[in-house]
Amino acid sequence: MSRIIIDDQGRWQAPDQPAIPFIEGDGVGPDIWAATRPVLEAAVEKAYGGKRRIEWIEALAGEKAYDRTGEWLPEETLETIRDHAVAIKGPLTTPVGEGFRSLNVALRQIFDLYACIRPVRYIPGVPAPVKNPEKVDMVVFRENTEDVYAGIEWASDSKEAVRLADFLSKEMGVKIGPRTGLGLKIASEEGSKRLVRRAVRYALDQGRGSVTLVHKGNIMKFTEGAFRTWGYEAAAEFGSAVVTEAEVAEKHGGRVPEGRVVIKDRIADAMFQQVLLRPDEYEVIATPNLNGDYLSDALAAQVGGLGLAPGANIGDRCAVFEATHGTAPKYAGQDKVNPGSLILSGALMLEHLGWDEAAALVRKALGLTIAAGLVTYDLARQIDGAKELSCSAFGRAIVERL
Ligand code: NAP
Repeated sequence: MSRIIIDDQGRWQAPDQPAIPFIEGDGVGPDIWAATRPVLEAAVEKAYGGKRRIEWIEALAGEKAYDRTGEWLPEETLETIRDHAVAIKGPLTTPVGEGFRSLNVALRQIFDLYACIRPVRYIPGVPAPVKNPEKVDMVVFRENTEDVYAGIEWASDSKEAVRLADFLSKEMGVKIGPRTGLGLKIASEEGSKRLVRRAVRYALDQGRGSVTLVHKGNIMKFTEGAFRTWGYEAAAEFGSAVVTEAEVAEKHGGRVPEGRVVIKDRIADAMFQQVLLRPDEYEVIATPNLNGDYLSDALAAQVGGLGLAPGANIGDRCAVFEATHGTAPKYAGQDKVNPGSLILSGALMLEHLGWDEAAALVRKALGLTIAAGLVTYDLARQIDGAKELSCSAFGRAIVERL
């Protein structure tokens, strides 16, 4: 067994037989993991013969961890993930009143997983609410640690809120009325730049044509507006590999110079219109936390694939790939739900290892399975003539088509 190395340049190098921790997750987690694992193993085998193979290590978290160790997120699990740099997980129940806002948030904070990455691509055969869902092929890079999601907030009438309101009134001339909850919106230069750098590097590595900074800087000038400014600065660090939209118009007669990634920006509300009206003009999106939360779910719904949407949370030293849905407790243990979100997250993980061939095989086989009308209950109820498969049978149908 060997470990994934991250070099001085921040590049991840996977050995041929990396050890990768998995967290099964709660609720339907064990079902979808049981369907996912054979798909990933078979794709790697198919792509590389016996040369490459993943050694899975189980890491406990959530209810399974609590039952066995009395802890929701045991230190041993954190050490295992830290040591191996990459992990994959099913959904986790959020323990109520245990000092965690959520286990997922805890993982993001502990490992500083600052980029939430959500690729959105149409899978033919999936019922979608728009006319041309196939025009959507975007990857959203959502900042994951700052913005109004940093958790810096105080309830109305709490002594902290009253004190802060008092300070703002006396020191800053800002009047805040009684019974007002207060929260802070945070945007730092480094927080914004590291996210945008990652998005631009991804666009360059994957041969994508543009990165769009999505912000609400016309109103929130010093947070969202600063994100835009810092975003352009971070992109400029890539020198002649990038070109701004303004430069394309002013210096290149409206034609993008061969091989360069265009950096552009859009105001968030306009962007929601753009992705509906002209989706094929956008490829990689980099955006603060709240915009990214809304936009990634809206885009996933646009292609009919909320239940199939993959996700990854990535930092400089660690990456966690996960199903984006919850534990769906009413279906737990029924071998029923759609494992597509975790399977596609697994494909993202393979891509992150540099195993693009295996990732492409997974996506293609999943697409062929759905196109053949072989789907789990959630899609079967929407597609005329589809054959409903169990979670595990859907996984097997994908393996057969690899
Ligand atoms: P949910 O578990 O995502 O389930 C809501 C509904 O979405 C399900 O009832 C089902 O709809 C559909 N669904 C979810 N996963 C599906 C799948 N794989 N295949 C097909 N349909 C699927 O949301 P929730 O009920 O709000 O949350 C339950 C628990 O999950 C909570 O404890 C929450 O904290 C946790 N959670 C965890 C994560 C995470 O770990 N990343 C994320 C979100 C929520 P139908 O009933 O219509 O079939």
